[in-house]
Amino acid sequence: MIDPTSDTDYQLLEIINQLRDKSEQQDMIGEVYDFVALLKGIKPVLLLGRTPMPAEFIGKILKLALDLKLFVIEGCLWDATEYDQFPKWYTEYCRGQISEFKAWYICKEEKFAMTIEKINDLDGILSMDEEARLLGYPICCVNAHYNRAHKYHRGSLSILKRLAKGDEQVMQALAMGNAHLAPKTNQEIEDLEFAFQIYTPHLGSWNMCDECKNGINSSSNELEKKYLGVIEKLLKLNPMQ
Ligand SMILES: [Zn+2]
Repeated sequence: MIDPTSDTDYQLLEIINQLRDKSEQQDMIGEVYDFVALLKGIKPVLLLGRTPMPAEFIGKILKLALDLKLFVIEGCLWDATEYDQFPKWYTEYCRGQISEFKAWYICKEEKFAMTIEKINDLDGILSMDEEARLLGYPICCVNAHYNRAHKYHRGSLSILKRLAKGDEQVMQALAMGNAHLAPKTNQEIEDLEFAFQIYTPHLGSWNMCDECKNGINSSSNELEKKYLGVIEKLLKLNPMQ
């Protein structure tokens, strides 16, 4: 069991304070909080790099992880989207796009490192349950995340089909050419609006489901309380002179 030294805490605090000085930093700080949660045993695996972050900060966090002798595994972004209902070419196109994004998976235990390697060997394809368990996110929120993804794909395909007048070859060409996909029908507008309703918690970087956001389900709230317990202590540290 690795016991992070107080020196690690000071370094993390320094990273958080530096990110605070930047704009658009909330999501990045969320990933640093995730790192704290990993160190304190709140989550088994940290996904670093889901939020575009300056290389300088990625480097700092990776160095910290390696100094602590954690497992650091580079791989593509995981994807539990259920593509079954979509055409094969569309699935391949989406998976190809995702594979261009690199991320780092960090964990303390070898058994998780082995699971991460296995998933990465499968090009990041895993189940929603697996993703929730490994990243320590509430399953309701992970399911909701992929439900939004599903609506996004359904809406996008509908737009492509409309623009291509049903010709699948043209649909493919439009997708590959990054055509601007403006929703027009009520269903398309509804799907894309739904897909982009993203609510993050105050601490941490997962996207909350509606039930968690509205307090009907307490899963996110409980996880946030755990984060708060360890992060409050960290933020109370006096910066090193
Ligand atoms: Zn939830």
